[in-house]
Amino acid sequence: MVTTRFAPSPTGHLHIGGLRTALFNYLYARSCGGRFYLRIEDTDLDRNVKEATEAILKAFEWVGLEVDGQILYQSQRLDIYKRHVQQLLDEGKAYYCYMSKEELETLRETQRAQGLTPRYDRRYRDFKGTPPSGVEPVVRIKAPLNGEVRFKDGVKGEVCVRAEELDDFVIARSNGVPTYNFVVTVDDALMGISDVIRGDDHLSNTPKQIILYQALGFKIPNFYHVPMILNEQGHKLSKRDGAMGVMDYKALGYLKEALLNFLVRLGWSHKDQEIFSLQEMKAFFNPKDLNSAPSCFSPHKLDWLNAHYIKESPPDLLKALLADFNLAASFNALGQMQQDTLLEALKSRATSLKEMASGVAKVLSAPTSYALDKLKNKTQALEVLKTLLDRFTEQDFISVETLDKTLHALIQDRGLKAGAVLLPLRIALLGEAGGIGVKEALFVLGFQQSLDRFKAFLDFVAVASDEIH
Ligand code: GLU
Repeated sequence: MVTTRFAPSPTGHLHIGGLRTALFNYLYARSCGGRFYLRIEDTDLDRNVKEATEAILKAFEWVGLEVDGQILYQSQRLDIYKRHVQQLLDEGKAYYCYMSKEELETLRETQRAQGLTPRYDRRYRDFKGTPPSGVEPVVRIKAPLNGEVRFKDGVKGEVCVRAEELDDFVIARSNGVPTYNFVVTVDDALMGISDVIRGDDHLSNTPKQIILYQALGFKIPNFYHVPMILNEQGHKLSKRDGAMGVMDYKALGYLKEALLNFLVRLGWSHKDQEIFSLQEMKAFFNPKDLNSAPSCFSPHKLDWLNAHYIKESPPDLLKALLADFNLAASFNALGQMQQDTLLEALKSRATSLKEMASGVAKVLSAPTSYALDKLKNKTQALEVLKTLLDRFTEQDFISVETLDKTLHALIQDRGLKAGAVLLPLRIALLGEAGGIGVKEALFVLGFQQSLDRFKAFLDFVAVASDEIH
């Protein structure tokens, strides 16, 4: 069974690169009815593990990644790791090394001075004598002395490291705590992980882990090392580029569908499809299609996807999502039809929920200034507005369609161009020449408020022309 995992070190929040790794592992498991586990790698970190784990789970919950089984904490598994260290010692596959830090440093300096790569010289590998007193030994693995460590990476292809390049690395420190590569190997094996998808910053750990798999007699999983996410200038992502916490994207008004769709395409492709629902991702994801070239974080593309998913969302969903964005009380006071009409009108032009929320506030608060310069024929504009003020009845405001009819009747009666009526109306209602459709704005504001806004506009223009004269 395909079994994958996400194994974050608890660092406070889950960032975008971490979520991508989690997503790939999750999708692969889900694509073939496998299991997806979460393991918190908290052995040598003094950070606040509980909060960091909660932050990860909160982000998972938001985007909808369900984890199978119990969450594993490495800090609670020390005994298991120690047992495996002991097993290797008993089998003669690992040994105590009594070299002090100072001795090791002296050795390294000598090697450097000779132009050699600093490396432990295996002096305790076959040591049979009496150990020096007062030294707490580390445990080292007996790495192969010759040949090579090879594996086929699902992204990088054939990876081969010559034995001389690897020394007998430490698997347990002098305080008895096993090292990073050791605990990762033991956990992945005991958890039955079949496929490891992770960042290529871990590529250099893999040969060491393979040596450990072999020593412990465990089956080696498939590895996929995915390239980093770079910014548009080809550099490592900084906070400014988007290396923020996943929940920051929620606060900025991104939809989880947009974020997941964006992330899945950072390093994975399926034909030339760009838009993927979660169901499609689960159906199509295959790590064979992971790209070997670094992927580029394009904020523009994220916005494009977000705009797409906002446009696809029905008003009820948008209403629920916008609840986090402090919608104006005046929005809640609107009727159901008016709310839906406003959201429908705004959603086709918004790239984020935050933008939509401010769009709502903008429509629902009376303008404080007017783009008078956009009106070519002010006299005609004022006359049109005055006529409308007389013509509009409460009945017209029953629907967008009835409003449309009344407006068209006026346009035809007067033999005017549509714009000659709609533009002054828009400016009187919303203050600006742009924004949502006029009929929609009228319908949302309703009879009384629309007329109030016309009057306020006419008063404003009267005062403005008094001031000019
Ligand atoms: N804990 C490691 C990290 O957060 C991941 C280890 C792994 O995936 O093997 O980068």
